[in-house]
Amino acid sequence: MGHLNVQLLLTGDELMTGDILDTNSMAVADALMPLGLVLSRKVVVGDALSQLAAEIEAMTQQADVLIVNGGLGPTIDDLTAQALANVIGQPLQEHPQAMAELQAWCDRRNYPLNGPNKKQALLPKGVDIVSNHTGSAAGFKVTHNDCMVICTPGVPSELSVMLEKGIVPLLSNLVIDDHTQIEKYQVFGMGESSVQRIFEEVYPNWPPEIELGFRAAFPMLEVKLTAHSASGIRLLPEWQLKIETQLAEHIIARGKILLPEKLVALLSAQNKTLALAESCTGGLIASKITSVAGSSRVFEAGIVSYSNEIKHKVLGVSQKTLTEFGAVSEAVVLEMAQGVLDISGSDYAVAVSGVAGPGGGTVDKPVGTCWVAWGESGELKTKCLFFPAERELFQQYIATASLDLIRRDLLGITDTPFYFSK
Ligand code: AMP
Ligand code: MG
Repeated sequence: MGHLNVQLLLTGDELMTGDILDTNSMAVADALMPLGLVLSRKVVVGDALSQLAAEIEAMTQQADVLIVNGGLGPTIDDLTAQALANVIGQPLQEHPQAMAELQAWCDRRNYPLNGPNKKQALLPKGVDIVSNHTGSAAGFKVTHNDCMVICTPGVPSELSVMLEKGIVPLLSNLVIDDHTQIEKYQVFGMGESSVQRIFEEVYPNWPPEIELGFRAAFPMLEVKLTAHSASGIRLLPEWQLKIETQLAEHIIARGKILLPEKLVALLSAQNKTLALAESCTGGLIASKITSVAGSSRVFEAGIVSYSNEIKHKVLGVSQKTLTEFGAVSEAVVLEMAQGVLDISGSDYAVAVSGVAGPGGGTVDKPVGTCWVAWGESGELKTKCLFFPAERELFQQYIATASLDLIRRDLLGITDTPFYFSK
């Protein structure tokens, strides 16, 4: 089939009214990439039966594969099955496999199977099921106008599992061109422009067979090398090595592993535990850590000591230090870190205290200033970070930098990172 023409049709009133942003098309495009497939077209419509049917008909006339997303819910505004039934001229009927999977889904949750849910097993006659491993809306596919139409659920977590387990394997069977290989790196502490400059200055003879891509997912940067040909794939390891040498310790991980995951893995591997004393990040560092499955093995405690009183009463920061140096100071974060180490008995701690803004800045400590202390008991290190930005970005940056400082410590990287200081 050579290169497949893949198109995406998204449906949902909420996509048209400003209620939610369409992130599913990102997930679809991202899943197609490793197959060397790029969407040629995407269309978004509301929950309107006639429009949905008209687009399915029109798009199947052009595409080899049409992915339809959304409109599979139990409520009457979800119309994808009906629209497809109209287009292919088949009635809706109860699909035994869809019904069985729906029943199993209910049983796992101890839910009674109710009427609206049963609607989700009412599918156009002749479709095949694409299993939904996480939710109640079965996916389904059928060929129309020589085009494979695949209907998928709108709930992002359900879609991503279906893409991985159902759709990518399905499409990889159709794709003859398997000359695509992608290598990703998660990078922190270097911006797109710095990385681009390295590529241009250090590697003026960068091979055209390897495409370089960036995706800024603040505050991380994803660097992506894509080879689209057999010769590109042969060259890839050599050029990967060069990139790994240049970006060095700024590379958090290869592939899709993010910083919190990496840190939990490092702590686990070294049998170390971590505790946090957070002020300006309000628990964000703890939240990032605990989002990782298995973090309970390495994470002891996170104390959000926002007021001076709690810094003193809970963490044992002395009144004298607070008055003499102020809450945003090296002396205070050192005592916060030592305090939480003492309370928790953890091996490692991080403490942060900063001025998130927009108010509260002074000449000495402008908005964006943040002191961090990190390390082991008796061997704490400190750094003054400076990242003047909108409150939420500041918190994200400080939280990520804090995790990175521990990561560097655990890896024995002694260079002080050159980024984000005053
Ligand atoms: P549906 O399959 O239409 O019942 O979709 C269920 C839920 O998935 C909706 O209520 C939305 O919150 C979410 N959703 C639907 N389409 C998208 C999309 N394109 N991007 C992100 N979320 C979506
Ligand atoms: Mg919907």
